[in-house]
Amino acid sequence: MSGHMSPEEFRKFGRQVVDWIADYYAGVEEHPVRSRVPPGEIRAQLPAHPPERGESFERVLSDLDAVLMPGVTHWQHPNFFAYFPANATGPAILGDLLSSGLGVQGMVWATSPACTELETVVVDWMAELLGLPEHFRTDAVGGGVIQDSASSAALVACLAALQRESGGGIASQGITRRHPLYISAHTHSSLERAARMVGVGADNLRVVDVDPDTLGMDPKHLDALIVEDLAAGAVPTLACATIGTTSTTAIDPVREVGEVCRARGVWLHVDAAYAGVAAVCPELRWINDGVAEFADSYCTNAHKWLLTNFDCSLLWMADRQPMIDALSILPEYLRNPATASGEVIDYRDWQVPLGRRFRALKLWSVLRWYGAAGLRTHIRTTVGLAQEFADWVRDDPRFAVLEPHPLGLVCFRPLFPELSIDEANDRTYRLMESLNDSGQLYLTHTKVDGRTLLRFAVGSPQTERRHVLAAWQRIQGALG
Ligand SMILES: *Cc1c(COP(=O)(O)O)cnc(C)c1O
Repeated sequence: MSGHMSPEEFRKFGRQVVDWIADYYAGVEEHPVRSRVPPGEIRAQLPAHPPERGESFERVLSDLDAVLMPGVTHWQHPNFFAYFPANATGPAILGDLLSSGLGVQGMVWATSPACTELETVVVDWMAELLGLPEHFRTDAVGGGVIQDSASSAALVACLAALQRESGGGIASQGITRRHPLYISAHTHSSLERAARMVGVGADNLRVVDVDPDTLGMDPKHLDALIVEDLAAGAVPTLACATIGTTSTTAIDPVREVGEVCRARGVWLHVDAAYAGVAAVCPELRWINDGVAEFADSYCTNAHKWLLTNFDCSLLWMADRQPMIDALSILPEYLRNPATASGEVIDYRDWQVPLGRRFRALKLWSVLRWYGAAGLRTHIRTTVGLAQEFADWVRDDPRFAVLEPHPLGLVCFRPLFPELSIDEANDRTYRLMESLNDSGQLYLTHTKVDGRTLLRFAVGSPQTERRHVLAAWQRIQGALG
């Protein structure tokens, strides 16, 4: 095994791999959901040094089974209710495989026109499917792009906002003034990392209060902080409103936050990483209220809940120019007539890395396989299961549910009325760990107002009502 894999060998092993994956899905329920290996166990079973001579591909597959599989947590398991879903589906896997097969680098239009143009088509399709505003479409001044993650999307939004709010200076002089960014305590940590990376610094993150009932950002406090910063000579730059926070799927009042941003000249980034895709269902489009009027940038992940393998995060700009001004650069080796003509999109100007995969293929494959109707069915089915779960929890007087929970996540806790808050938190955590250790289901936790809550996220295409019911019965059983 020292030469390249021939097309005939690839055909043979490729079939084995596809069979392996199909068998995996057919039997995924047999695995404990969360891996039970202790730290270092997998590494200790692997050779410390790379092979000098090539080996057969069969040996890779057999080590996958024997060595690696015990260390895999099964995100596609029907009893995976932890974090948020990370959907993987047949059409997405196959689209991704085709992308790998083509091995294209799509950094500029000229390096593979189809890679760019298909991406433009699918992000415009997605804008239409989600009911997003016309000005997000690429044929207007805005436009969409596929990023690797919502974290990268936030970084790009911060760069574009800095470019605009600094009067165009950051691409040349860097940051010369103080540029506060506005978040809430429930904003995703990627905003703090973006603040560090763009050089604003975490000290310039202003944490806006939230409404204690809805956990949504308080627009009056946002305005007060902006006014304070303006008076101190700072340049208020970007506010991040979240639609569906990671902790509890709380929804910031985007319209009111947007009105403040508009009045004060602050960029509004909307992070709808998990929840945004729910807008494929017209009855759930209320979550995006205010986005059309006020969002300068908007992000949602197809790679969480929309049946598309990681990585596939969608970012739209209301006006793409500040982003391009912040990131565009043209080294001699990338000069080409298409770029010079200004008639094409070069997506390297829309992201942090230069190189980019042909990610549009997997999303295109998903959109064509499911159609809009299939996507809506997936969202409705999983939201319905989560709502049914919440009803069961509410009906058991030993538990309390955190309201509201309009999407696929339900946060709840056992009451333990006889215990102090600290003791109840500890018991809740231990209850969760015992369930997770059982391998029969997997859920995670969060903390709101000092109380530990269990998070139950329904979103896998493998999950059926019977799984949710069995999980609930196990949770009840664990309480004794
Ligand atoms: C998951 C999540 C993110 C991060 O998504 P990545 O694509 O993993 O970077 C950001 N914001 C929210 C609200 C999320 O739920």
